[in-house]
Amino acid sequence: MLQWVSWTETARFHSPLHNGNLDEQIIEVRQDPLTGHQSIYNTALEGKASILFPATDQNYLEERAAATKATCFLCDGKWRSMTPSYPKDFIPQGRLLQGEAVLFPNLFPLSAYHAVVMVGNKHYRPLNDFPEDLLADALTLAVDFVRICAEKTPNIPFFTINANYLFPAGASVTHPHLQILGATQPGTHHRLLLNTSRNYKNLTGVRYWDELVASERQENQRYIAQIDETHWMAAYSPMGVNEILAVFSNTPSFLQWKDTHIRAAARGLSRVLSSYHALGFSTFNFSCFSGPLRQDDGSFTCVLRIIVRQNVTPHYRTDDYYFQKLLQNEIMIVRPEKLAEHMRGFF
Ligand SMILES: [Zn+2]
Repeated sequence: MLQWVSWTETARFHSPLHNGNLDEQIIEVRQDPLTGHQSIYNTALEGKASILFPATDQNYLEERAAATKATCFLCDGKWRSMTPSYPKDFIPQGRLLQGEAVLFPNLFPLSAYHAVVMVGNKHYRPLNDFPEDLLADALTLAVDFVRICAEKTPNIPFFTINANYLFPAGASVTHPHLQILGATQPGTHHRLLLNTSRNYKNLTGVRYWDELVASERQENQRYIAQIDETHWMAAYSPMGVNEILAVFSNTPSFLQWKDTHIRAAARGLSRVLSSYHALGFSTFNFSCFSGPLRQDDGSFTCVLRIIVRQNVTPHYRTDDYYFQKLLQNEIMIVRPEKLAEHMRGFF
């Protein structure tokens, strides 16, 4: 079973909030069992949550959605003429289509492969309006794309499927979309996951992710639900606010994804997004990591991380500052154990 590493730090000072009396605050620090990533929890921040994460300004959000719809290059079928397309010897029709989802190349790629998937015809969706069927169509295109890449260019083995939703989460386009990256080398966190998973397997003889699922299931503190071969849980030491982690059982890379994997990922994502919506959040990021295509050494399996970002409101403050971006720590606004309890009601 995994060892959960945590400790406390104590801060003492005279507080004007307590008539100048000595205040003592206990800060809980947690460390991810695989990567060592640190997250902190301070009960004193509970009262500050509404200041740190002010509610979504619904009127402002709708105003922004309407303003960006007029110039949206995806709406009303404009994607047909306004999005780039792949060379015919790579994808004969230039783009991939499935239901209301369309895959095309990013005009400003960040790696050798950088595809975008338009997720449905609607320009704006609240987080409780990402239906499972729509997400399944979008993920089907993502996985089909990875298969095509694997066939054409076996020297490009490192893939992730990602999303930014709304501008506080980094999206330059409001219209819901996914992004698929494929490169000759893994990105920074991807590399960390692959290397630490390999080291863990070499040291213990077992796959870390199998241990994690077994531990979380047994303890039942952060475990949320199983959907087919996927296991959904609140991350012990989250990398972002309200992180939910999904582990795919014995699925080394995207090339092993069957319809059941796509369906499970779509259902889980749809439920997580609905539960974020119920908590009042309006934005998110997710990344799904694959092991290197056709290079399975038994140490890795596909994993997905999804987090919320700052809500849509005028003059919003970023949730990513030196503590996250440069020190690479995170703050827990809600205890993962409490988050899991909330999420179970949506699964
Ligand atoms: Zn649009």
